[in-house]
Amino acid sequence: MISYALVLLTAVAPVLARPAVHSSDGPEPPARVGPAPLRVVTTLSVYASIAREIGGNEVEVMSIASPVEDAHFVRPKPSFALELRRADLFVSTGLDLELWVPPLLDKAGNARVIEGATGYVATYPGIQLLDIPAVANRSQGDIHIFGNPHLHTDPLRAVQIARNITTGLKKVAPDRAPTFDQRLASFTDRIYRRLFGDELVDALGGETLEKLARSGNLFAFLDSHALDGEPLVHRLGGWLAAAAPFRGKEIVCYHKDWAYFEDRFQIHCAEFVEPKPGIPPTPGHVARVIQTMQQRGVRVVLAANYYDRNKVEAVARRGNGVPVIVTLYPGGMTGVNDYFALVDHWVAALADAFRKLSS
Ligand SMILES: [Zn+2]
Repeated sequence: MISYALVLLTAVAPVLARPAVHSSDGPEPPARVGPAPLRVVTTLSVYASIAREIGGNEVEVMSIASPVEDAHFVRPKPSFALELRRADLFVSTGLDLELWVPPLLDKAGNARVIEGATGYVATYPGIQLLDIPAVANRSQGDIHIFGNPHLHTDPLRAVQIARNITTGLKKVAPDRAPTFDQRLASFTDRIYRRLFGDELVDALGGETLEKLARSGNLFAFLDSHALDGEPLVHRLGGWLAAAAPFRGKEIVCYHKDWAYFEDRFQIHCAEFVEPKPGIPPTPGHVARVIQTMQQRGVRVVLAANYYDRNKVEAVARRGNGVPVIVTLYPGGMTGVNDYFALVDHWVAALADAFRKLSS
């Protein structure tokens, strides 16, 4: 029993980050033998990564879709219904990305995590959606009928996802709310610093920068303001600075999963290899994509690693370009194990491709 308590204390202590009120003149606080971790099930590994950021040792998280499969077309294994049956919290996009969720929830029969229940989290509320069609219509095979559901490709939208997950965790475990709030604040600050760089966050504050970026005015503001006689844009760091080689550039994208990345990093998918989201490319459509590449000098083809590699490489080759094949989710490539590594990976892959093309 004693050794169990010690193990638990060791595991929990770094996360709790207790203020130093128990100084050396007092007795050690008792080992925290608190409630069991909450069981969190997420559709995507990226939501699992963010749930771990917020939940720390208070959660045990598993995700359903493999990071190397297309989240639109998952066939959940029977074991996932069993996991979901025991879950305290379920995290799903809530748009039409995971069309396989409703039958899975039916099968699991866990009233605590069905849509509308306390333990159900949709990640999209509060997120400014893009690509919302004028008419929601699935007849053409379109699988983005409520707007683009690939929310996590923008780090600032990932912060909103984290806020929504935090709200859900606090609803199912109100007694642990201070821990979740503290960890959300830490995650948010780390995203700000990785996106804008420390110097700019220290000078202007992350929230101000977030507002400027979300309203599309960040670069106009940084270009037109100075600090100590130096334009603010010179102080930009982080992912946005690393993205300089591809800012304002056009690329070809395989699927419409980069809309929010485009919005944040000011890169533009001029064409898509798929004629419509979820519809496989036809020879005629691919010929038009290649023609556009040649006419407009578009030379990078960006695709998630679960699409047919040969197809992606063939389009790039025929258009005189290069393929950039990345994982869309944490865990989908060696070394890309959490959300921060994921954004590092996307930005580095695109910046490298553009640097090579211009050299
Ligand atoms: Zn999609």
